[in-house]
Amino acid sequence: MKEINSSEFEAEVLNGGKVILDFYSTECPPCEALASKFEDLSHLYGKDIKFLKIFRQQNRELAQKLEVKSSPTLLFFDNGKEVAGRLTGGIKRIDIIKNLDSMLAADRVNQIKSRIKPSLSEFDVIILGAGPGGLTAGLYLCQSKINTVLIDIALPGGHVSTTHEVSNYPGFIEPQAGYMLSHNMSEQTKLCGTIYKVAVDITRVDLEKKEVIIDEYETVKAKKIIIATGTTPNLTGAPGEKELKGKGVSYCATCDGKYMDGKDVVVIGGGNSAVEESEYLTRFASKLTIVHQFDKLTANKKAQDKILNNPKVSILFENEPRSFTREGDKIVTEIENVKTKERQKLVSDGVFIFIGMKPNIDLFRDKLTLDKWGYIKTDEDMKTSIPGVYAVGDVISKKYRQITTAVADGTIAAMAIAKEMD
Ligand SMILES: Cc1cc2nc3c(=O)[nH]c(=O)nc-3n(C[C@H](O)[C@H](O)[C@H](O)COP(=O)(O)OP(=O)(O)OC[C@H]3O[C@@H](n4cnc5c(N)ncnc54)[C@H](O)[C@@H]3O)c2cc1C
Repeated sequence: MKEINSSEFEAEVLNGGKVILDFYSTECPPCEALASKFEDLSHLYGKDIKFLKIFRQQNRELAQKLEVKSSPTLLFFDNGKEVAGRLTGGIKRIDIIKNLDSMLAADRVNQIKSRIKPSLSEFDVIILGAGPGGLTAGLYLCQSKINTVLIDIALPGGHVSTTHEVSNYPGFIEPQAGYMLSHNMSEQTKLCGTIYKVAVDITRVDLEKKEVIIDEYETVKAKKIIIATGTTPNLTGAPGEKELKGKGVSYCATCDGKYMDGKDVVVIGGGNSAVEESEYLTRFASKLTIVHQFDKLTANKKAQDKILNNPKVSILFENEPRSFTREGDKIVTEIENVKTKERQKLVSDGVFIFIGMKPNIDLFRDKLTLDKWGYIKTDEDMKTSIPGVYAVGDVISKKYRQITTAVADGTIAAMAIAKEMD
């Protein structure tokens, strides 16, 4: 694995044979989550494919020339030609492997795969998800001397690690940078002795057997499971959104906001996340337009006051996005007034979407009792409909989703488990 800069691009990439190139940024949780997978795969595939990394912030011109609009972005080259399709955002190990395999002969792929050995580890409790809910459960279980493993598809921290500022977590007089708050939570749980398996791909979850397979080859078993998998941003569903995801359409202000210096930005949404993240984006953007479907913002009063008094910000109420298209370097967002049906086009350098969330339950959806919005139903001890399976935090059916409520759920589940295992 090697770090390069733009001046080495021609020699190392265009004349470099088979290459995988990682454009990464700092303060970018998906980039950090990718780093360990990238390094791990370089040990497996490194003899056949060159693994290169390039720091996007210091190589902006090259990134722009290659139309890299999001961090991280993985590009694959074979003899100077881009092949295999780009990967961006929360990149899965399995998708990188698919692309790498497509660059090699089948028998060589089989040889490489034969070097991976299956493994099995056993614990008292598996916690799926290392956001505030999972981390707190991990801390309490660890302090009760219960052998616990925290498994996360990303790095520990959950949504807090990509929230620029948290001003309502008790115990801190000044607002805290989200990544610091989540870092401190994670370190506290880790120092206690909880085992972490993070930035992994989850291949399969069997809630009845209390078994989780990660990265295809590693089986983790336990007596109990806590689901703390949180939520994922909703998509608008407008044409062009999926195609432009990572190419001008983003869901993470802390990851991609810093590339909006002096630029025009469009934000879709009007709740707490949209308004608070817009405030952060105005540190960089020269002009920011919020598109919101209702006739007033639904964010808390303090956040609203700040954004309404920000001279860089204008708000288009009662409008919804209808399509996203790319014109040269610009993203064109076509919006429609929900009352008059009048349409207009907003030309910007980047679009950020914050329109609510959906629960992360795809791996175990069929097995649990859910509410009508798809959130997991629990009792007052955070027990789900499956014996030995608990759920905490934003993924459960409840009224208020905050760090404090996730932390409280994690505490309750861990204490209930500790009592049962006593
Ligand atoms: C932009 C934004 C700003 C916010 N600001 C605030 C604020 O200022 N104050 C406040 O109190 N709340 C705020 N919130 C809400 C707060 O972040 C959440 O309520 C809280 O993070 C919920 O914690 P959690 O542990 O339930 O889930 P999350 O924080 O969502 O963590 C879930 C974890 O599970 C992992 N995961 C997902 N799927 C799987 C899987 N299949 N297997 C294993 N792991 C998985 C994820 O990678 C993640 O690490 C904000 C939310 C957003 C989106």
